[in-house]
Amino acid sequence: MSDCLFCKIFNGSIPSNKVYQKGKVIAFHDIQPLASIHVLFIHENHAANVNEMNSSDVAEVFSAIKEWTQSQKLPSSGFRVVVNSGPHAGQTVFHTHFHVLGGESLGSFGRR
Ligand code: AMP
Ligand code: ZN
Repeated sequence: MSDCLFCKIFNGSIPSNKVYQKGKVIAFHDIQPLASIHVLFIHENHAANVNEMNSSDVAEVFSAIKEWTQSQKLPSSGFRVVVNSGPHAGQTVFHTHFHVLGGESLGSFGRR
């Protein structure tokens, strides 16, 4: 998609602070972090929301999350994966992204 922010981040035409790249998956720091660790994982293939992703692409993103969180020793302290989809979830960028948050004790989520 020529007019998609995260497609442009994937292809490097918009800069990002990258922490991971393998195959068709990258991860980079969120510009407005909500935790001391807050990175976004995306797949190269554009899909507006998670239900529009191919299952195999979702699996590729999750194996990247597994590899990276293990490299950061996050599983022992804990971390959260969030995928906002649509208006009620507050999705603002319509290229599916998987928020990974951690590095501190996280607040609750849901209605507030
Ligand atoms: P969401 O609300 O789930 O759609 O999340 C979009 C996320 O993208 C927000 O947390 C933003 O802070 C983040 N974001 C927007 N633009 C950029 C950018 N250029 N680089 C990194 N993160 C961004
Ligand atoms: Zn895109």
